[in-house]
Order: sequence, then C-alpha cells, then structure tokens
Amino acid sequence: MSAADAVTDSLKRMRAEFGDVPGGRPADYIPQLGLADPDAFGLALVSMDGHRYSAGEAEVPFTIQSVSKPFIYALALSVLGLDEVSRWVGAEPSGDAFNAISLEPGTGRPANAMVNAGAIVTTALIPDAPDEPAFERILHCLGRFAGRELDVDEEVFTSEAMTGDRNRALAYLIRATGTMPVDPVLAVDRYFRQCAVRVTALDLATMAATLAYGGVNPVTREQVVPAEVAARVLAVMATCGMYDGSGEWLLRIGLPAKSGVSGGLIAVGPARFGLATYSPPLDTSGNSVRGQAALRALSERYGLHLMLNP
Ligand code: GLU
Repeated sequence: MSAADAVTDSLKRMRAEFGDVPGGRPADYIPQLGLADPDAFGLALVSMDGHRYSAGEAEVPFTIQSVSKPFIYALALSVLGLDEVSRWVGAEPSGDAFNAISLEPGTGRPANAMVNAGAIVTTALIPDAPDEPAFERILHCLGRFAGRELDVDEEVFTSEAMTGDRNRALAYLIRATGTMPVDPVLAVDRYFRQCAVRVTALDLATMAATLAYGGVNPVTREQVVPAEVAARVLAVMATCGMYDGSGEWLLRIGLPAKSGVSGGLIAVGPARFGLATYSPPLDTSGNSVRGQAALRALSERYGLHLMLNP
C-alpha cells in the first residue's frame, strides 16, 4: 500500500471505528444547528506537500462557528501586531464554558480569543480596509486559509442573530469594562456572520494545515499570515482551544486544537499536518464526541502527542 493510501485507509478506519460512538447531541441553542444530521461524520487530513486525504462526509457543508476564532485571531495579529491585540484580549485559559463571562479582574479584558467574549472583541478589532469592509476582509481571510472562496449560510446567521442574546449581553458588558473597540451591535453582527461561514471538513483540514505550515497554505502555496503569527495562534489553541476541556486535551492528545458547536474540530501537527473532523453530537463542554474520540485514537496510534514525541 502506498503512503497516500495508508493515510486514507487510517481515516476510513477511524470513521468505521468511531462512527457509532454513542452520546452527545447536536447543539440546538442556535435552532438551525439542531437540524444537523447527527450521523454525518467526516474526517480529513492535509499534508505539508498539499495532499488532501478524506473519509466519510468530508465534503458536507456546515457552519464554521468557533473554529473561525483562531483564524480571525491570526488576522488581527497580522493587521495590528501582538502588543496591540493583547491590549484588548488576553491569552490565559479561562477554564470556563465557551459562553462564560470570562473577563479578567482588573483589566476587564476577555481571558482569551478562543472563548466567545474574546472572539467578539477580536472580530471587532479588524478595521475596514480602504477597498474592503471589515466583514469582507474576514470572509476573504477565511477563504485564503481554506484555499477557496467561502460564503455565509444566511439561515444559520439569522437563527443565531434571533437567539444570540447571551453574546449580545457579553458584548455590552465588555463595552462597560472599556475593552470593546466598536459598537456592540456591530461587533456581534459581524461575529454571528463569521460563525455562519460555510465550510467542509476538507476546508478545515486545509486551514489547519496552513497554521501547521508556518502560515502558508500548502495547497495554494499562498502565504496567508506570517509564520510568527501562525506560531502564536497555535500557542493559544494549545492552551485554550477546547474550552474547559483544554487541559485534559493537551494532556492526552497533545496537539493544538479548536472545536466549534456545529461539530467541527481541527488539530494541528506543526510542520506535519492539519487534521479536521465533522460530527455534530457534542459533549457538555461543546466539543464533538466522535471527533474527539477519532483524534485521540489517531494521536495515540501514530504517536502525534507533541510533548511525548517532539
Ligand atoms: N456562534 C456560536 C456562539 O457564539 C459559536 C460557539 C462555538 O462554536 O463554540 O455561541
């Protein structure tokens, strides 16, 4: 079997082995997400030479949700630099749920860019460019990471806009602490749109691979963000990417990762690969049950843990 066939074969085996793992349920606090097929399970891997491998429902579209957060953090770091971004958003794991009121005592800054409070501020920090309004900039940036043009699922956007009072409240609270760069209504509208960008598991694996490859998309060969930015994003993903499951994830799986409430999950092997899974049933931390099981098995079987096998 060729090396390429072996990768595809491993992904297929993961799909077969973990496709029936019980437990969890699709998020439905955004009503439109509750309509997802709980049995859809896609896996994808993109290597540093730009090869794309997949199994199962790797080309089924779904909304990116929180998996967008590291990429928009990368955009903010590229445009504004680490020191300026750090004035507005911290880099400490919150240990709290994704939608917690994670504001640092004293400064009032959101704890990090991977929880909602920090992501809303990160999104709000992206300025309009002379030829491109801020949201277009966000959409194009996500597209450059994915290597293709992406669009917004308007139904999911509307569904979240109609029910997203908690995020709206967070945005107002952040303004009250003095760390919200734009009007809260605008910030949350942009953030909901960003979360409703449509992707597939193959897109997410390409995006993860771009972070792995020093900010260069290995498929299109475009430098999307500087290498230093990609490295800093991976650092924050490693400590904060899996919400209140982040410590346990780093302990056991040992890869920078980010999950989202639609069931997407990415994991990055720096200088080696980008991995992504899509499976909507979530555990109580908001992480995909089958995605985590498959990535944990891949990490254990192939020795991917960064600290165990540097
Ligand atoms: N749009 C979702 C929210 O803000 C994203 C949360 C997530 O994926 O964790 O509630």
